Amino acid sequence: MSSFTVLNPATGRGIREVQLADVAATDRAIERAAAAFETWRAVAPADRARLLRRFAAAVDADLENLAKLEVQNAGHTIGNARWEAGNVRDVLTYYAAAPERHLGQQIPVAGGVDITFHEPLGVVGVIVPWNFPMPIAGWGLAPALAAGNTVVLKPAELTPLTAIRLGELALEAGIPEGVLTVIPGKGSVVGERFVTHPAVRKVVFTGSTGVGKRIMAGCAEQVKRVTLELGGKSANIVFADADLEKAAANAPGGVFDNAGQDCCARSRILVQRSAYDRFLELLEPAVKAFRVGDPGDEGTDMGPLISAAQRDAVASYVYDGEGRLGAEVAFQGEAPEGGGFWFPPTVLTPRDPGARALQEEIFGPVVAVVPFDDEADAVRIANDSAFGLSGSIWTSDVGRALRVSRGVEAGNLSVNSHSSVRYSTPFGGFKQSGLGRELGPDALDAFTEVKNVFISTD
Ligand code: NAD
Repeated sequence: MSSFTVLNPATGRGIREVQLADVAATDRAIERAAAAFETWRAVAPADRARLLRRFAAAVDADLENLAKLEVQNAGHTIGNARWEAGNVRDVLTYYAAAPERHLGQQIPVAGGVDITFHEPLGVVGVIVPWNFPMPIAGWGLAPALAAGNTVVLKPAELTPLTAIRLGELALEAGIPEGVLTVIPGKGSVVGERFVTHPAVRKVVFTGSTGVGKRIMAGCAEQVKRVTLELGGKSANIVFADADLEKAAANAPGGVFDNAGQDCCARSRILVQRSAYDRFLELLEPAVKAFRVGDPGDEGTDMGPLISAAQRDAVASYVYDGEGRLGAEVAFQGEAPEGGGFWFPPTVLTPRDPGARALQEEIFGPVVAVVPFDDEADAVRIANDSAFGLSGSIWTSDVGRALRVSRGVEAGNLSVNSHSSVRYSTPFGGFKQSGLGRELGPDALDAFTEVKNVFISTD
């Protein structure tokens, strides 16, 4: 066992030492989860539902504590952090209704009765990134547990505190020992073991595309089930017939929320050429008004980045090698100085379609604005990306909104808004943004196998 000092990204100072599991400790936790599976799968559906509702109630009762923990550990604004804890509660409540409604089929056949069952998989390994520690944990664990699986969950090294607390709340709510085990540790140790341990029957991974590819390759060895939620480079497409004031006022929130460390960040703004100058004129005051500061203050729009390394990576898209602002920077907002990993909201206007800022996921508060000519051009530019997670379309023409929504290769689109995530609707990516879907009415299918049974009546 080694340990890791968890930092507060707003100050850069340590807040807690967390023990990191080694391979032996990970194996013990997986074996306990495999043993707990035999009893958890046999819990009557109504009782499993009741336990999940109690878990949801425990999260709700601890909501303010969880939110404050996330402000400290991840630098999320207090408003966002409360939403995130509430999201865990809501996802648990939503899937608590599933055990009693997870219906099979009765299929007409000759000579007997044919029925299907949805069987749980066994132990599910959930690997969580640092950008949304609570919701992403909840999206994996809630449907997995509802379907009768047990879960081992690895939070990101940088942000383990709320996951550890969720594990404690599960036990306090009466979820039996071994059914949900939170294992803080390194990706290369605990995460890799989820991939290689044969008792882990499925890996749910959210994180970078590079690590996701490696996990998918590792899972292939055992034909292990895998869901991947990876990076994004989503387009916010603004047509000249849109409410430009509203589109510009909402654009900063669509990309700078969570300091841009959001896989759904609309980090490319595509604006129809005839409205391009006007849109930039409207965008500048909106960006400058975006309040960056102490994430614990109710009025703050954006906190710090997660780490010094992340700040340096983001800066490489904005400053040249000598620390001077790059030529493509149109304007920037403000950020605090001093301790903490601060970066100002920044708007770029790159000319080259192959520019790094247009192709790579920056995962920070940096947005690139580019012009387009017509509907076909907008769809072509939006699709000129290896990613395909989300996107927005701003227009007053409903037919165009639907045509462009169907044309953009992405899993989650919103018209005249930037919403991507609702627990009752499916979420996931096209192309290199991922594989499979989370949330929504069908999530349990990703945590079960269909079994067909024929009973002869002869
Ligand atoms: P990351 O890939 O470095 O790490 C994600 C998790 O994987 C961490 O828990 C890490 O410890 C673990 N990990 C690292 N190496 C591993 C390995 N070899 N085997 C198993 N596990 C390993 O990503 P990150 O930097 O923490 O998160 C940022 C990325 O996550 C961004 O690219 C972002 O777009 C993506 N993301 C995607 C979604 C989505 O739903 N599509 C949501 C949030 C974040």
